[in-house]
Amino acid sequence: MKDAPINLLDYDRQGLEALFLEMGEQRFRASQAMKWIYSEQQLDFAAFSNFSKTLRAQLADDYIAQVPDMISEKVSKDGTVKWLLKVDDVNAVETVYIPEKNRGTLCVSSQVGCTLNCTFCATGAQGFNRHLTTAEIIAQVWVAAKQLGHTAQDRKITNIVMMGMGEPLANYKNVLPALNIMRDDFGFGFANKRVTVSTAGLVPYINQLNQDADVSLAISLHAPYDELRNQLVPLNKKYNIATLLDSCKNFVQNKRKARITIEYTLIDGMNDLPEHAHALGKLLKQLPTKINLIPFNPFPGTAFKQSKPQNIERFKEICMKHGLITTVRKTRGDDIDAACGQLAGDFMDRTRRSATIKKIPLGVVA
Ligand code: SAH
Repeated sequence: MKDAPINLLDYDRQGLEALFLEMGEQRFRASQAMKWIYSEQQLDFAAFSNFSKTLRAQLADDYIAQVPDMISEKVSKDGTVKWLLKVDDVNAVETVYIPEKNRGTLCVSSQVGCTLNCTFCATGAQGFNRHLTTAEIIAQVWVAAKQLGHTAQDRKITNIVMMGMGEPLANYKNVLPALNIMRDDFGFGFANKRVTVSTAGLVPYINQLNQDADVSLAISLHAPYDELRNQLVPLNKKYNIATLLDSCKNFVQNKRKARITIEYTLIDGMNDLPEHAHALGKLLKQLPTKINLIPFNPFPGTAFKQSKPQNIERFKEICMKHGLITTVRKTRGDDIDAACGQLAGDFMDRTRRSATIKKIPLGVVA
């Protein structure tokens, strides 16, 4: 029986070079193929005009260049766009584009669901189905770029954040090549600092990432002490705050003073009191950071409530008094459930509602 075809989007340049060498081809075929796939947005090998006919036929026999079908594209009142992509018969993931005045951020998913069970996150509440493949991760950028008309000359996407569904560092093996393709000149050509990996604190993989990729790092902290963080981010029982901040220190030393983003979701009465802000200020003195305060976004079934606006302001001011660079993340796309922590890839529900799922051809707005 013939093996399942290999998807070229599963490989970064180094991986593709090995594939082409194995085929008896030259190494440079890898960058040529990447140019077709990522710059030209061409998935049909027949169009790879600088490849010989024989090579094109050989590729068509054993390989594919494939992205997931789009199930829906929703556009928020504020311009935020959310795509639901079908990764297999029972799973779908969400990708969100957030346009701002001077930049456009793409929020990419790394897993279907998540194992970490952070108590205030909708993705955690959904459980864990599986890791995404490298192709399924990089295809989110591919599809968004195609839909938005993003090109090397007209860069609609300026930043990529691995802040969608899942814990990227729990799927390190597949996430790393995707990060490489995002930053490769023959891939999407993003500057290192414009690609951010966000983690709940998987310390061994923060250390590994430090060795492997010069990307930006965001830490989902959410609490200044272990007792409280254990409740919000259960992973803290394994890697506590001190251990986590130690690995962050190594990370910034290696990256020559790049600031680490600290994400802090503000939940009413839980972690938004002045004492929390003071403790956070003291805790972060040791590290070059910028704090991103995220007003909690509610989702069905949660008992948590968003902090009151005056408490968000109070928290921000205390952080600033401690000398921390502090911003409040604007809630975007909540009318289409695209805000932080609201991504759940509701595909399973859809299959229950209707047996046939309409896929939408790329380029058509639903
Ligand atoms: N697992 C990674 C990637 C998820 S990023 C991580 O934990 O960093 C999504 C960000 O939104 C994280 O900082 C997460 O803690 C935060 N978040 C999750 N649920 C939220 C909610 N309901 N409201 C606001 N922020 C939330």
